[in-house]
Amino acid sequence: MPLNHTLQQEPLCGCAELSRLNLDFRAYGTRFKLFPQSPLMSDYQEPEIVWISLPPTQIHPGPSDQRMYVVDAIDKHYYEHPFLPPYRGDRNALARPDANGHFDHLEVGTHQFEAAHMYGTLRWVLDIWETYFDRQIEWSFADHYERLELVPWLDWDNAHSGYGFIEMGYGRDDSGQKFPYNLNFDVLAHEFGHTLLYSVIGMPDDDKATAEFFAFHETASDLVAIVSLLHFNTVLDRLLNDTSGNLYSRNELNRVGEESNTRQIRMASNDKKMRHVPDPNTPLKDLSNKQIHDMSLPLTGALFDLLIEVFQHNLVDDGLIDEELDTLSRGLTEGDANEALVQSLFDEFYRQNPEGFKMALVHARDYLGQVLSLSWEFLSWDLDFPQVVQALFQADIELFSGHYKQEIAEVFDWREIAY
Ligand SMILES: [Zn+2]
Repeated sequence: MPLNHTLQQEPLCGCAELSRLNLDFRAYGTRFKLFPQSPLMSDYQEPEIVWISLPPTQIHPGPSDQRMYVVDAIDKHYYEHPFLPPYRGDRNALARPDANGHFDHLEVGTHQFEAAHMYGTLRWVLDIWETYFDRQIEWSFADHYERLELVPWLDWDNAHSGYGFIEMGYGRDDSGQKFPYNLNFDVLAHEFGHTLLYSVIGMPDDDKATAEFFAFHETASDLVAIVSLLHFNTVLDRLLNDTSGNLYSRNELNRVGEESNTRQIRMASNDKKMRHVPDPNTPLKDLSNKQIHDMSLPLTGALFDLLIEVFQHNLVDDGLIDEELDTLSRGLTEGDANEALVQSLFDEFYRQNPEGFKMALVHARDYLGQVLSLSWEFLSWDLDFPQVVQALFQADIELFSGHYKQEIAEVFDWREIAY
């Protein structure tokens, strides 16, 4: 199986450690305008200003820097062995910064905006995850390429990341019109997740990668996208305003992979248990890409559940909801008579301290980002699911003295993932 990860084959606390994270680059960074989700989603038609960690002096026209660069290629075919970077053909005019070195002045609808959107998204996601990893990530392809090549547009109904590159094609909206994946934060962040993961846990030896490894890669890349998405202020505010913090209910986080209002590439929140998906020990050659993606769903679901569990744990720890509501909301089943009561209680508590709820969610997000990062440091490409879970327990112990041990056990037990 090739190591290119294409999109189309996939159906698609108050902790002291957290307060030390610096994810605010406004004092010295560079401005970009990013769409939190595809602008085709009716709720997200305005891009948000985001600050990248690099100062304007270190980002050049393209945009490009020492770690990655855009080539806005014209009439390019997607990379496929033996055709690999660097691209040397025709290209569109470079995206250039304004007089102060920022890139948020570019007009939506131009090649230059899309080039800057792809670069800005990937650079920001790298900033976020290097903060969680607490180190600089060395590219897995460093032996052959110094920098990651970003191709914002191919006339191709797909997107993929591979050895030294990430390339974006297009999806289709409900009316069948093409729209560029370079404006879809979730697709960009997911593909970058694969690049990041290879750089952290390594490349498999020839023909030795297992189905479990590829399923894990899909899960981890989805989590890179979800945690990164939660760094948009507009996303945090809308999520909490819409739900009053009752995240057990169906909400927009569940639809992070959505391309438009009605279609979804992936579901981060799902109710799949291991008994519902192919056995992870199945030989890779006997599985389709769709089956490998299905295999990843319980693991992705468990980690999504962990985010929600830790958030609610933080709400109780911080006195933002009472234990009674905590117990009541956890016991709800679909169509439960108490659903309306639970929501009205959340509405009441949320009104009293919306900022507190937001901090609890930010802390849950950063908890997940940190434990995932450290747990991935413990893994290598020959991993299995039990090792993935054991690594999480270990990371929770090292970073948070095992504070969320019970939540971790519960979410994996429910999914029937052994450890
Ligand atoms: Zn993928």
